[in-house]
Amino acid sequence: MTRILITGAASGIGKACAVHLAERGARLLLNDIAPLTPPAGDHEVMVGDVSDPAFWEGAELGVLDGAIVNAGIGTAAPIRDLSFEEWRRTMAINLDGAFLTLKAALGAMNEGGSIVTISSASALKAFPHTAAYGTSKAALIQLTKIAAAEAARRRIRVNAIAPGGVDTPIWNPMLDEEKDRDEQIAAMGATVPLGRYARPDEIAAQVAFLLSDDAATITGSVLTSDGGTVL
Ligand code: NAD
Repeated sequence: MTRILITGAASGIGKACAVHLAERGARLLLNDIAPLTPPAGDHEVMVGDVSDPAFWEGAELGVLDGAIVNAGIGTAAPIRDLSFEEWRRTMAINLDGAFLTLKAALGAMNEGGSIVTISSASALKAFPHTAAYGTSKAALIQLTKIAAAEAARRRIRVNAIAPGGVDTPIWNPMLDEEKDRDEQIAAMGATVPLGRYARPDEIAAQVAFLLSDDAATITGSVLTSDGGTVL
């Protein structure tokens, strides 16, 4: 039985990872800043802000076998219109939060285990209007690789996945509330070489692969799962 920490588990990719792993017998330690209902089973919930060091100081993680560093926000604006507050907020949650999660998870793991960070295709290609988001996710890849290099002697693997568009609520603030949501997601998906956005359960299965012993020789890598977006 494995015990896995998942941040941002109330919605989207984090929630899908929780469902996927719970169905396969994992015991989960689930975090979100919002209240969340865990899947059926022997799981624990820690509500709190991943970017707040005081949250992690007070958190009792117990012993972990792995972690999914998932909590994040999406922001979009051209640099000249991007406020410093929005830049800082994005860095705080997407990068400081990932650092604090990794630090806590590595401190709660013994010999062996696996961590997956959720980066983005925005880390790999310079999409306009992604200065804060894309920079935070690019830095997360380097942080992931450094963690992998540091933890390898403890037989802990650390990898990133870089999804392209995934149909989750993260897109809602960028959609037109007056128009049909599915049609807007489908229209954005049509710009992807493979013709669609991913579903959260597809990303969850790929994260589960990286966590599993089937990926026993993979560490410090970035699994791009974007339907060909960055080609
Ligand atoms: P989502 O909005 O559905 O879920 C994100 C979750 O993180 C929410 O439940 C939210 O409450 C939580 N969260 C936000 N700030 C938090 C904080 N400070 N502390 C704790 N929890 C916090 O979005 P999603 O699409 O499932 O995003 C999950 C991750 O995947 C994010 O890191 C995102 O950047 C990344 N990602 C998403 C896509 C996509 O297209 N959906 C693509 C690439 C990467």
